Amino acid sequence: MTKAPAADQRRLLDVQALDTRAAQLAHRRKTLPALADLESVRGGLVQAEREQVTAKTLVKDLSREVAKAETDVEQVRSRADRDRKRLESGSGTAKDLQALTHELESLARRQGVLEEAELEVMERLEEAERSHAAVAARVAELKTREAALKADLDAAELAIDVDASAVANERLDSASGIDAALLALYERLRAHGGGLGAAALRGNRCEGCRLELNPTDLAAIRAMKPDDVARCEECGRILVRDEKHGGSA
Ligand SMILES: [Zn+2]
Repeated sequence: MTKAPAADQRRLLDVQALDTRAAQLAHRRKTLPALADLESVRGGLVQAEREQVTAKTLVKDLSREVAKAETDVEQVRSRADRDRKRLESGSGTAKDLQALTHELESLARRQGVLEEAELEVMERLEEAERSHAAVAARVAELKTREAALKADLDAAELAIDVDASAVANERLDSASGIDAALLALYERLRAHGGGLGAAALRGNRCEGCRLELNPTDLAAIRAMKPDDVARCEECGRILVRDEKHGGSA
């Protein structure tokens, strides 16, 4: 049977309360709403940035296509200009002039087709530029929200860290001087007891597992000396009696 001064046993409940508080703070820090919001915004941002890259690539490709279409039209136009000048100069045989006339007709048709193609690709470029602008605006908006959430999260974490640090200091004071073997037993039980290593005995109930002790166990605990360390028969935790029942029964 472990033995430890009754006062040390009762101080264990203060240590337990502080450990519980520290665990709650750690849990709250890990489950801050801003964390989930931030994760969701970051997921959206990754997706939007991917879309932005695709949209930008499309704009670049279509810009190149427009330039190529302009060059195609320009080539046909200058060829026609040259032909027209030669035709106007009247030099060459009648056969030459007839060939030039035919070529001019064919060039005019070709120019029409090329200009239509140019127009079509220009429209596609405008559409792609609009899409790119929209996705770029969405990326900017998500970045703003990300920064705001990050600031919220930092502030919330800092507030918790300040509390946790105060609790840790208080815990040091609280645990200081408590019987080492009792503290070691408490730590071992706490590690396996879901964070609870010591609990008060309230009436006939263990505050650790919330179960009522049977009359025999209860009587045995009441009969213990104040410096006997009682354990709950159900959960095995250190059962701390209050002063009134500190083994004086
Ligand atoms: Zn119990």
